[in-house]
Amino acid sequence: MNILILGSGGREHTITWKLAQSNKCRNLFVAPGNSGTANIATNVPVNVTDFQAIKEVVLNNKITMVVVGPEDPLVQGIHDFFLEDEALKNVAVIGPQKAAAELEGSKEFAKEFLFRHNIPTAAYQSFNAETVEDGYAFLDTLNPPYVLKADGLAAGKGVVILEDLNEAKAELKAMLVDAKFGNASTKVVIEEFLDGIELSCFVLTDGKNYKILPTAKDYKRIGEGDNGLNTGGMGAISPVPFADEEFMSKIKERIVIPTINGFKKDNLPYKGFVFIGLIKVGNNPFVIEYNVRLGDPETEVVLPRLKNDLVEVFQAVANQTLDTIEIEIDEQAAATVMLVSGGYPEAYEKGKEISGIDNIEDSIAFHAGAQLKDNKVVTSGGRVMAITSYGNTYKEAIKKSYQNIEKLHFDKMNYRKDIGFDL
Ligand code: ATP
Repeated sequence: MNILILGSGGREHTITWKLAQSNKCRNLFVAPGNSGTANIATNVPVNVTDFQAIKEVVLNNKITMVVVGPEDPLVQGIHDFFLEDEALKNVAVIGPQKAAAELEGSKEFAKEFLFRHNIPTAAYQSFNAETVEDGYAFLDTLNPPYVLKADGLAAGKGVVILEDLNEAKAELKAMLVDAKFGNASTKVVIEEFLDGIELSCFVLTDGKNYKILPTAKDYKRIGEGDNGLNTGGMGAISPVPFADEEFMSKIKERIVIPTINGFKKDNLPYKGFVFIGLIKVGNNPFVIEYNVRLGDPETEVVLPRLKNDLVEVFQAVANQTLDTIEIEIDEQAAATVMLVSGGYPEAYEKGKEISGIDNIEDSIAFHAGAQLKDNKVVTSGGRVMAITSYGNTYKEAIKKSYQNIEKLHFDKMNYRKDIGFDL
């Protein structure tokens, strides 16, 4: 079959790499793709939210399955667009419909869902410009640190955590009254702070059945020791060593099952990945957030551990026969380290030639912000390339990634040297 993957990051290179291993897959297309996907698929220069252009690509190339990488097209309703179009309605779309994508598109919607279905999460209240005074009063009742979240999508920047009450009030005003995050902060969720260690749990559902995929832990901050500015993610490991059998069964019973049942009860049509951001407080899991797609760079460690044919798995999602699939997970651990452009997550330069990729041994280079230019691979984004390795332990895997990174070079290349060292 012919498959189209939407997106251009390390996540999409990994999805494409995994799909390319299936003998059910004839032609793979990626819109817009990067230098990594260009090696194993056909890149098409189409924006992920240009639904009309995507329609043309699908029809012109007889595509029968579309896998949506990032959240924007899902929140904008790409799955519904396909279902409502006579020529597209039989194309399988991997990713939830718009109503369900609101779980990521609106933090207030997600919190209401979590409370409605009794899923453990931080206490909260939400406010708008008219109720900003009530917001100040709510902040007065909380202990620091204060967690303020812009309701809508803010490219991972909409969550602000502050120690000082007055700063928190000023931030609330900036978000609600001064529209700091534009439309994304017309509403703000203020949450109780949860103190614990974070992990991510990935679930695949067809709307009726579900399968739990490997857990992962990502490293968000730019600096070692998890200091400095937030990034899209600097590395990840899978599985998470502290997520033992007992803890996983709590996640399943208290979070995954009520979440999937919640989709059914609330009529939220869901065929795709659910990324559940969790925090372990004491010995108990709490939900921090839902994302309605895979995470990046978690995908770079989760999919390499999946032994199944991913095309078969996606077909089962589309046909709602996921119950017939036995998910097989590689016993080996996986780790990935993200190479980034110097300066990122602030200003950085692009167009730097990346050398040494062919010298990599026993690791996989998943391209992210990298493009082909005059037959050379050059940097085109902040996060450039994720180097994934397997190992008997995550420590062994990380060691291999670091050894291979020694062989890679681009001007002002930066990466964290402590991925997995905290565990
Ligand atoms: P992402 O960039 O992962 O998409 P986001 O902008 O959608 O994040 P959240 O994941 O909800 O926002 O929050 C970002 C980070 O803020 C979390 O990973 C976590 O570290 C921290 N955080 C959020 N809510 C809480 C909370 N209630 N208690 C403690 N920390 C929190």
